[in-house]
Amino acid sequence: VRHLLVVLGDQLNADSVLFDDADPTRDVVWMAEVAGEATHVWSHQSRIALFLAAMRHFAADRRVDGWRVDYRELPARAETDALPTLEAALVEAIARWRPDRVIWVCPGEYRLRRSLKAVVEEAGVVAEERPDRHFLVDESWFGEWAGGRKTLRMEHFYRAQRRRFAVLMDGKEPVGGKFNFDAANRRSFDARGPGLLPEPARFSPDRITRAALDRVAERFADHPGGEHQALENFDWPVTPAQAEQALADFLEQRATGFGDYQDAMWTGAPWLYHSRLSAALNLKLIDPRRVIEAVQAAYRDGRMPLAAAEGFIRQVLGWREFVRGLYWWAMPDYAAGNALEARESLPSFYWQGRMPGGEAIPMACLDQTIGQTLELGYAHHIQRLMITGLFAQLLGVRPQAVHEWYLAIYVDAVEWVELPNVMGMSQYADGGLMASKPYVASGRYVQRMSNYCSHCRFDPGEATGESACPFTTLYWDFLLRHRERFAHHPRTALQWKHVERIDAPRAAAIREQAEAWRERLSRSAGR
Ligand code: FAD
Ligand code: SF4
Repeated sequence: VRHLLVVLGDQLNADSVLFDDADPTRDVVWMAEVAGEATHVWSHQSRIALFLAAMRHFAADRRVDGWRVDYRELPARAETDALPTLEAALVEAIARWRPDRVIWVCPGEYRLRRSLKAVVEEAGVVAEERPDRHFLVDESWFGEWAGGRKTLRMEHFYRAQRRRFAVLMDGKEPVGGKFNFDAANRRSFDARGPGLLPEPARFSPDRITRAALDRVAERFADHPGGEHQALENFDWPVTPAQAEQALADFLEQRATGFGDYQDAMWTGAPWLYHSRLSAALNLKLIDPRRVIEAVQAAYRDGRMPLAAAEGFIRQVLGWREFVRGLYWWAMPDYAAGNALEARESLPSFYWQGRMPGGEAIPMACLDQTIGQTLELGYAHHIQRLMITGLFAQLLGVRPQAVHEWYLAIYVDAVEWVELPNVMGMSQYADGGLMASKPYVASGRYVQRMSNYCSHCRFDPGEATGESACPFTTLYWDFLLRHRERFAHHPRTALQWKHVERIDAPRAAAIREQAEAWRERLSRSAGR
């Protein structure tokens, strides 16, 4: 054949640059399901199933369009699986098809970007990587913008994109007179909670998805989600049409509440007013321009308040593009960052959803967030940042162990988006390149933003003693441990000033209690 067109599992857009000059009579579309992509981190069953189901639908649709698709299905049994990695499967395909050229679009991971090129070149075939135009901002634009800056702030980047793409702009001015309505996006619910929430659109598995779910159950029975009936609950959009329906459902049912309650958390309410679009976006089932345009239109038609529309667009046009630019700009060194020299292991309850002895996680906020994550492969942003991420940071867990968990456990996890969020925003492992200060808080923050503390045996106001909240103990311990570094920094001095009021005996008591938690949770950890 002329060209072997490699379609990776997160590149399921038919308008991809891959097909620009392609010819169905001379080229072959190649796709492969391989176990290695599900096991290099111990992936959640729903995450694996989502990729396989969406890939199978994409392949079926391309066949209908007249393409020759060489699709490798994952064998049902590990013993008969001769091609455990993507690289091995590609070498085998090159040997069979003998193409003049192998073409692919920039992968979502540094690891694959390197290995694909190496494998194709080693096979003696011309290798061509194309830039991914799914994203609005390309690597060279980001490189120019970032070059020479000491720190990279999303807000500056975001404003530049609003202007460049004329999104929510009135001429040169932002609609509503300011670029950012974040201050209006931080409400929590009163004691009555969110009330009756509209159920998000569910996408029942069709024949193709069902087969993918069965294959995951056969091959990855012991993966996270297995004990939580994750595959039985699977309802993610897996086709472009379903992604479009998910967007419509969000705009009709939940978008008005998105702004106010973006940061709020509530027991038993995993979705609240969130869009559930990240996985569909990251697999390229829907284009970010389409999502931004639809939200902008909803604002202009009076269906979405400005603070909600701006808050949402900030996530997609701002954060999502920003973290991707940062990822490619800062890799591979970025993945090795550990600015706060954190050395602890990740507590095993992150993977298991229970304590080593089998009892429930005693911290209600972690129990809720991790339980929901294992069941659904989903938690919203503040749960990821201020519950699971914060706890790991306060405990002092090695950032690479935290990164592995996040990459494995969420349905929307692809390294370009997961890694900067974890290493930069959540763990401060990059020493402040991305976030101006560590996102640290005590249990009081959790109490303010959720009702978790009212079901918890700990007291968020206490740092020491029997009923002390571990977040609060570890928060003060964090301030004490990192006093040297942050007490004199202009962005953090105010937060660290409170440490001055702690006398030596109290500091010792906090440290002792924090160490006891580390001993109990982290040093006895194993997956
Ligand atoms: P909504 O709350 O409805 O937000 C709308 C969209 O904005 C999302 O679909 C997403 O595409 C985008 N978005 C929002 N926040 C971010 C962000 N910080 N970075 C990039 N895009 C953003 N998002 C992922 O897509 N994959 C990940 O692996 C991932 N890992 C994360 C790890 C940590 C520690 C943190 C703090 C955040 C992570 N995020 C990740 C960002 C965010 O939590 C998810 O995008 C969001 O929760 C997905 O749910 P949703 O689609 O309902 O989002
Ligand atoms: Fe979490 Fe502490 Fe609140 Fe319990 S008291 S839910 S551990 S923040």
